[in-house]
Amino acid sequence: MKIAFFSTQKYDKDFFLKENKKFNFDLIFFEVHLKPDTLELAKGYQVICTFVNDKIDQAMLKELQQNGTKLIALRCAGFNNIDIKAAKELGIQVVRVPAYSPYAVAEHTLALILTLNRKIHKAYNRVKESNFSLDGLLGFDLYGKKAGIIGTGKIGKLVAKILSGFGCEILLYDPFPDAHLEYGKYYDLKTLLNDSDIISIHCPLNDKTKHLINKESIALMQEGVMIINTSRGAIINTKDVIKGLKSSKIGYLGLDVYEEEEELFFEDHSETIVQDDVLMRLISFPNVIVTSHQAFFTHNAMRNIAVTTLKNIKDFEENKELSNLVLP
Ligand code: NAD
Repeated sequence: MKIAFFSTQKYDKDFFLKENKKFNFDLIFFEVHLKPDTLELAKGYQVICTFVNDKIDQAMLKELQQNGTKLIALRCAGFNNIDIKAAKELGIQVVRVPAYSPYAVAEHTLALILTLNRKIHKAYNRVKESNFSLDGLLGFDLYGKKAGIIGTGKIGKLVAKILSGFGCEILLYDPFPDAHLEYGKYYDLKTLLNDSDIISIHCPLNDKTKHLINKESIALMQEGVMIINTSRGAIINTKDVIKGLKSSKIGYLGLDVYEEEEELFFEDHSETIVQDDVLMRLISFPNVIVTSHQAFFTHNAMRNIAVTTLKNIKDFEENKELSNLVLP
């Protein structure tokens, strides 16, 4: 079976080609995103494999169906970028990799918290220039701080566990609370936003969570709050967050995702003039760290993504039940 991969980087090819030795599929790699003007490339492929920034709407799905696509294998957990309802109506199945390493994302969340707090990024550059001054590097003890976790699924749970290991008091919010969660206590969202020193976002992006962090929710937060988002960019209204940073209401911001990331992230733009003024303003703040959607990017996660994606496709080829099918 031939599979067309979109948005591929060298590391995708390396991991998929290695794991494909056990599956023997014919893998065709395209570097471009799947979008209206690259749809032609998918013609004739029953299976296409896409990633987080391949936005597939109803019109594209119609064309894919006419071109013979029967399965879209997402090599990621989130599926907010596909019109799942339209795919079902058109008879295109969508599978994903629900869990490849929640540890990878939880640990990156901690990397952002610790770097922002202890200003490791500044210290690294200073010491390289023989500047051993501590001015401006003052941090705070995580011990005793209140950490609010929005979304207590696989990743949120781990972040709660790790932060409780630091001695933080854990405040949780999830419309579907987990009665067995050992670390932290559930509160309503308003209380969490009101009381937390650190707020970390781990819920999916959907109609209810789009711009969950906006000027109204920011107004409820502590002065100097730290906000971390490793979930999906559009959960934060970036313009409102910039206002919050300018007024010092937000003291620290760590982002691994950005609402307009798809034209920028995963690519080297260092030789071009980036046209996104909002992102450029954001990264100009000394108390903001942006990483380019790298929280998942560990050896373990990349291997698991390749194995589960190829297994999903194998199940489809053999007409087996698709355990990682995404339903509307
Ligand atoms: P999960 O499905 O295990 O957990 C999501 C949790 O969010 C669930 O408990 C759900 O009940 C909760 N939730 C749903 N609606 C909510 C709302 N309105 N408010 C608060 N909570 C809500 O997912 P996960 O594996 O923990 O992943 C969390 C998110 O992390 C994913 O949605 C994905 O977008 C993102 N992610 C990012 C990366 C990265 O590299 N940055 C990698 C993997 C996943």
